[in-house]
Amino acid sequence: MALIEAIIAALLLFLIINRLNNWLPEEHQIPKEVSLKSNLISILIVLGISLGIRLPFENLGYYFEFFVILNNQPLHFAIMTTAFFLFHHIFGRKGETKLFKKLLVIILIITWIAAVVYTSFGLLGIEIQDFDLRGADLLHLGLIWAIIMVFILGALTSILNRTLSIDIRLPKEVLRNSQIIGSAASLGVWTIQLIIFEMYLSRLLGIWPYEQDIRILIGVVSGVYVLVFYLFTKKVFLPKAHEKSKLKIQEGIDIDRTANSESLEGEKVILNVKNLTTYFYTEEGIVRAVEGVSFKILEGEVVGLVGETGCGKSVTALSILQLVRPPGKIMKGEVFFKGKDLLQESEKILEYRGKEITMIFQDPLNSINPVFKVGDQIAEVYLLHMEKELLMETINQPEKSIYSIARDWSENLLRELNIPAPEQIIDRYPHELSGGMRQRIQIAMGLACSPKLLIADEPTTALDVTVQNQILKLMKDLKKKYNTSILFITHDLGIISKMCDRVAVMYSGFIVEYGKIQKLFSKPYHPYTKGLISSVPVVGKKRHRLDIISGLVPNLIYPPAGCRFHPRCKYCFEPCDSEQPKSIEVEPNYYVACYLYDPAHQDKAEISIKKVQKEDTTLN
Ligand code: SF4
Repeated sequence: MALIEAIIAALLLFLIINRLNNWLPEEHQIPKEVSLKSNLISILIVLGISLGIRLPFENLGYYFEFFVILNNQPLHFAIMTTAFFLFHHIFGRKGETKLFKKLLVIILIITWIAAVVYTSFGLLGIEIQDFDLRGADLLHLGLIWAIIMVFILGALTSILNRTLSIDIRLPKEVLRNSQIIGSAASLGVWTIQLIIFEMYLSRLLGIWPYEQDIRILIGVVSGVYVLVFYLFTKKVFLPKAHEKSKLKIQEGIDIDRTANSESLEGEKVILNVKNLTTYFYTEEGIVRAVEGVSFKILEGEVVGLVGETGCGKSVTALSILQLVRPPGKIMKGEVFFKGKDLLQESEKILEYRGKEITMIFQDPLNSINPVFKVGDQIAEVYLLHMEKELLMETINQPEKSIYSIARDWSENLLRELNIPAPEQIIDRYPHELSGGMRQRIQIAMGLACSPKLLIADEPTTALDVTVQNQILKLMKDLKKKYNTSILFITHDLGIISKMCDRVAVMYSGFIVEYGKIQKLFSKPYHPYTKGLISSVPVVGKKRHRLDIISGLVPNLIYPPAGCRFHPRCKYCFEPCDSEQPKSIEVEPNYYVACYLYDPAHQDKAEISIKKVQKEDTTLN
């Protein structure tokens, strides 16, 4: 019996601590893993201690009246609580917060007061039953009925919540917390009134204010339950849930939480794009090409920008370098490069363009001047951006002009890029070179001044697979050699997986998922990312049909309301078609813009996920 009682008491303590931690505001909570670990260890130790005390008490009790009195449940519970809190403090002190500690002390004091009062009755030879036998029976009987009643009320509130329309249904966490607090309050009030009215008053005054009546029980317990449930839901738990969800969203919007500190995960941030928005004012209407895009690139890092054609990847890149031509216009945003906002320093953009930040395009034939020899075009980069260095070099080589030094440097650069016969290539015109070679020349032009950031806009799309691989390898080697950061734009997830450290998935002008590449491929969050990944054929995996994302990228002049992916999303639920989801930090430094991960819509999201899973199972 002692063992069962000790286990029940231990479980009770475990639940109290667990609940208490969950109810606290997030900043005062102990991290879940620390709490669980210290709880489990403490419980086991406390169980051992409890049994170690209890057994001698029970055995000695036969011989000494004093031990019989001391052998009472409140006293044991107080000893267990003290031991539990002590060990919890020892094992969980790393994460323990001040508020949590204070609450533990309060609980401890209450437990000891109850134990001392109860034990003192025993020492004075007063039994609770002495007050009134009838009252004591009623206390037990009434409490059992009240507990049953509370369970019924809990079930009723859950059922009622289920029948409500999804818009006004309470989130699961709010419902559960309100049920617990409602149950505790109604049981507490019922117990207190039982003690006051049924036991003490009846004994002292010799009157029975009322007989034990099931109607009174129903009235008091349900009245208190409903009142407390309503008040706590409305005033405490719902605002707290909204606050929590707002905080999460805010964290997401403010990707740059360390606003002015130019570092992320301990690495130096080279480019910090915030809320970049670019529209095109065409005759048909306003094309909302880029809508509040934010991301960061660290030093020496490759960030991939991936998405279907027409989702705003290239416009984002062009906006960074302010290469958007009318009727396009950068509406707002910030592009911090080495701590300076390039959009505020438009007049100085030429100092950065081609020197600090360079861009290579999809089709080199369109971006390299067809009427100049490639060697002259590379030399022009040196002449434009490194005139001082060239002049210095003339001191070492007085027989040469800065033009011929620039030409020498161009030839050396081609040699460094493993381009065969560079001395001949520099005298060729672009049309005389193959597609792969032209792309290499473009890369050479991009890297001539050892830029800090290289923007590669689908650099391998126009090339065949073998050349594609050579170019990717070349870029990787160069990244290593010059520690150049790269923004790699592509629609090819295979290339992204080979090249990038982090990736931003774009859809219809928005970044919908952004974070480490490993996470994106192992556990994609956004339905669009999942669709993109599952539509890639896997070598060796037989499939009847490849998965597709149904529908088309929306017209950016008349984009759909709410989440722009909603017409194609099988998870779409209530707020998706009316409000644009904000970016939420679902894991450290991993962001997703989707209502499925918004804590404020958790319940609806779960229903939607279950619905889709059911449909998928039926289809399979
Ligand atoms: Fe789908 Fe809604 Fe998420 Fe958009 S917000 S991707 S519609 S579930």
